[in-house]
Amino acid sequence: MTRIAIYPGSFDPVTLGHEDIIRRSLHLMDKVIVAVAVNNTKEPLFTLEERVDMLQTVLKGEPRIEITALDGLLAEFARTRKATVVIRGLRAVSDFDYESQMALMNRQLYPQLETVFLVPALHLTYLSSSLVREIARLHGDVSTLVHPAVGAALKRRLGP
Ligand code: ADP
Repeated sequence: MTRIAIYPGSFDPVTLGHEDIIRRSLHLMDKVIVAVAVNNTKEPLFTLEERVDMLQTVLKGEPRIEITALDGLLAEFARTRKATVVIRGLRAVSDFDYESQMALMNRQLYPQLETVFLVPALHLTYLSSSLVREIARLHGDVSTLVHPAVGAALKRRLGP
């Protein structure tokens, strides 16, 4: 049986924290589908296409990873793709409330779907896309937080 997981998120933009979680999940799963959420309550900094492209650049050369846009319910997407696991990253206790609510709701919608929480490397624990966007907006150095291609994209969007 092929174990297929979905790692959903906004990835606005993908950070080294996301990369860390994806690489850890490959140790557990046969295939990981990185699903970039279309629906965003907030206006994203990068378009859906840009976010998908950056993930493709950052994760190239790994045949067990697929990157795709996700428009609609995660539970339905998982069912159609025969995925039985949702991967989410847990950084601090503050992530827990929202994440447990989502996990229970997804189980309600698709009982065979299990959510697996992974913890990143310690030095990536305080990293989030919103923090990266904030630092880049203020022209700070993000080279230890994101892949060089993402750093370049941030510079193009927000200035050096
Ligand atoms: P969302 O808007 O769905 O939270 P994100 O792109 O912000 O999308 O995050 C996707 C997932 O990756 C979430 O489970 C989030 O907790 C996790 N994540 C984000 N940054 C990190 C990090 N630095 N370390 C571990 N997990 C992370």
